[in-house]
Amino acid sequence: MVEHAWRTVPFWREAMRERGLAPRDFRGEADLARLPVVERSDLQRDPDRFRSTAFRDADLLALRSGGSTGEPITVRHDTGSLLANAAHGERERSIWAGSRVPRFGYREAVVVPPFNAAIEVQRFCRERAWLPARADIDRRYLSMLDPIDEVIAALDDFRPHIVHSYGSFLEALFARVEATGAPFHRPALVTYSSDGMSESARARIAGGFGVPVFCTYQAVEMFKIGFECEAHDGVHVNIDLYPLRLDADGTVIVSNLVNRATVLLNYRLADVVAPIDARCPCGRTLPRITRPQGRSVEFLPAPDGGVVHPQAIRTIFTAERGVWQYQVDQIEPARFVVRVVAAADCDRAAAARRIGEGFAHWFGSGSAVDVRYVDALERTAGGKLRPIRALSPAPPTP
Ligand SMILES: [Zn+2]
Repeated sequence: MVEHAWRTVPFWREAMRERGLAPRDFRGEADLARLPVVERSDLQRDPDRFRSTAFRDADLLALRSGGSTGEPITVRHDTGSLLANAAHGERERSIWAGSRVPRFGYREAVVVPPFNAAIEVQRFCRERAWLPARADIDRRYLSMLDPIDEVIAALDDFRPHIVHSYGSFLEALFARVEATGAPFHRPALVTYSSDGMSESARARIAGGFGVPVFCTYQAVEMFKIGFECEAHDGVHVNIDLYPLRLDADGTVIVSNLVNRATVLLNYRLADVVAPIDARCPCGRTLPRITRPQGRSVEFLPAPDGGVVHPQAIRTIFTAERGVWQYQVDQIEPARFVVRVVAAADCDRAAAARRIGEGFAHWFGSGSAVDVRYVDALERTAGGKLRPIRALSPAPPTP
């Protein structure tokens, strides 16, 4: 990939020349760190500098992403990489295909916003590849932006083996089913990507509903970074395809060794994760990281002039088993409105008290926390849910 980048991608050729590097200087993935770190904003400003000149537009799929974050980007994928990606997906599919669900021919509901990358990738591959009918999957796309009761009814009608969606949407879906007692076909498993899922919601879906939950780590820039195995402890990283390292602030820096169209090496994703050192009981030797909790790393300004990492807020809710979903609005440095979608068996007064204590721990004893129990949380037009909305995003302090 470095060789390809050197020959056909203006940004990389220049970056290597400036540093006196040539492809022969790259012997292993550790050498990728000798290249500059590419930020999302670099790609946003000048996407063509990262585009390989080796392809015609007709052979590429251009995907747009991230309108809701205020930093939309365009990433082009070449036909070969998109088909290879389907093969790479077999690593995670093998965890449940042929055991929890039939190997082929099963029904999968994908609940995403309209015009989602997953839909475009499927369409593109189907136009260019022949798939034997017996190796096919019955996949149906539902819109995450439709009223949730309509989605529930559509799922009950389709009776999927697998439901794939955003983590935050699965939380909302199961919370709604639990609250209304609506008839609902239970899938054999659910998978999620794009944003996080709280520990309490995972426990309620896996425990209460008996539906195992699998996180899959992917982005529009990097398709198959990692997957959750049957041990359900973190995410295995496909380091042969997407070598990954953690920056000092815990953000993920990944190189894409699959896609040859928009070539992204040493690229920062905003996810904050930690390594898991122990060997996984599943036997796989691919290294593990903690599950990503969504892309927006929005630090919260604290009354003492410092900042609080959003993970501190998440830990307040991790222990709350009666909480399906939450959304925190910081009104002033020590004043918060917390919206909570609670389970029926939640002791609301006790939970509100503990949440208040959690905020006091991080933001001082003078913190004012208004906990409001609601039926549903607000989503952006792009379908994203921002669980933590900081007063004004402060930069991370070193
Ligand atoms: Zn494992």
